Amino acid sequence: MARVLFINAGSEGHINPTIGVVQELISRGEEVVYFTIEAFRERMEKTGATVRTLDGQKFIKAFISGGRNYLLERINGLLHTADIVIPSVLEQIEGEHFDYIIHDSMFGCGRLLAQILKLPAINSCTSFAQTKESFDQMLEQLSKNIPAERLKVINDEYQSLTASCAEKYGVEIHSPYEVFCNPAPLTIVYTTREFQPFGEAFDQTYKFIGPSISTRFTQENVDLAAIKGKSLIYISLGTVFNQAIDFYKLCFEAFANSDHTVVMSIGEKTHLADLGEIPNNFIVKNYVPQTEVLKFTKLFITHGGMNSTNEGLYYGVPLIVIPQSADQPIIARQVANIGAGIQLQMQGLTANQLHEATEHVLNDPFFQKAVITIRESIRKAGGYQQAVEEIFEFRRKEF
Ligand code: UDP
Repeated sequence: MARVLFINAGSEGHINPTIGVVQELISRGEEVVYFTIEAFRERMEKTGATVRTLDGQKFIKAFISGGRNYLLERINGLLHTADIVIPSVLEQIEGEHFDYIIHDSMFGCGRLLAQILKLPAINSCTSFAQTKESFDQMLEQLSKNIPAERLKVINDEYQSLTASCAEKYGVEIHSPYEVFCNPAPLTIVYTTREFQPFGEAFDQTYKFIGPSISTRFTQENVDLAAIKGKSLIYISLGTVFNQAIDFYKLCFEAFANSDHTVVMSIGEKTHLADLGEIPNNFIVKNYVPQTEVLKFTKLFITHGGMNSTNEGLYYGVPLIVIPQSADQPIIARQVANIGAGIQLQMQGLTANQLHEATEHVLNDPFFQKAVITIRESIRKAGGYQQAVEEIFEFRRKEF
């Protein structure tokens, strides 16, 4: 039995794929201490992990203090979170022994903690992975859009933040890539090499284990028996970029009086009352048990978050992807490339367009055939069980 320190922060997308991994680690004898924010305590405690928390409010405040307009600013934001995460983790684990660390690829300063604690490290990557080369290229490209004066301020801040981390914590930060992607000797990526753009560019330290789908232990607030066997459309823009009242109303217009039953998740920040009259064939909630609903879904209209996309494909559901931000445009393109659905743009979208696209995807056997093939291939990737196989293999080889 080994003791594992798991560092994550607080967002559904970064937490959910780790649930199965933690459960499997524990069932195979590991002891897991899991850092997250209070909102995910219950979910993670049910896996059997010992949960300790970070201050979510302070974390977000530190992250956005770097700025939100440019990638370089978000890198500085991540560096700002070091002072929230590192002292808190060190204080809460004082005097304890750990054998290895698993950290999120983006949040939680995992690479820095691994250095401080001198622990073998595993990176948990819930989006597409990035090589240093492709990340540097992207950063260079994006930095061209930053006005020179602003760029100097951002770069100066980066220098001062990395110097301060070195001084306070005795760690070395060699590049923005290290801050944003937290590279480690083993990276678990929750997608397949085929779905990962330029999948062949990643060496054997990257293990593409496919979607990690497991029981979530969330409350069932949708009557699953009532949606079973229906022509069910599920609509969700995920948990982050989901304040979109006009879009939700557009969905009412597109599907009211149709033969479809529609389950729509509108996120915690949108009030049901602000949507006006809800058509009879709609079930609208702030949050739904998505992986349960998907089992009965015929078509998923999604923002193309990595987890939602993976979950849809895992259950063989064709997708209409309407990307909002972050990596979603890339994911949307990949979905269209592999024939699992189509991409629409939010800007200028009409109810009629959405309705027509839905009928097209539902009725063209091309999409059905493609998603069935994809479902088989992603299930073969092994999910959380394969992740734990890779972690154990790493343990055997490395320490
Ligand atoms: N999710 C859910 N119920 C909802 C909305 C979202 O269970 O009503 C889950 C979904 O299953 C997925 C995660 O929240 O695991 C969203 O992650 P994703 O990467 O798709 O998008 P993000 O929220 O990070 O934009």
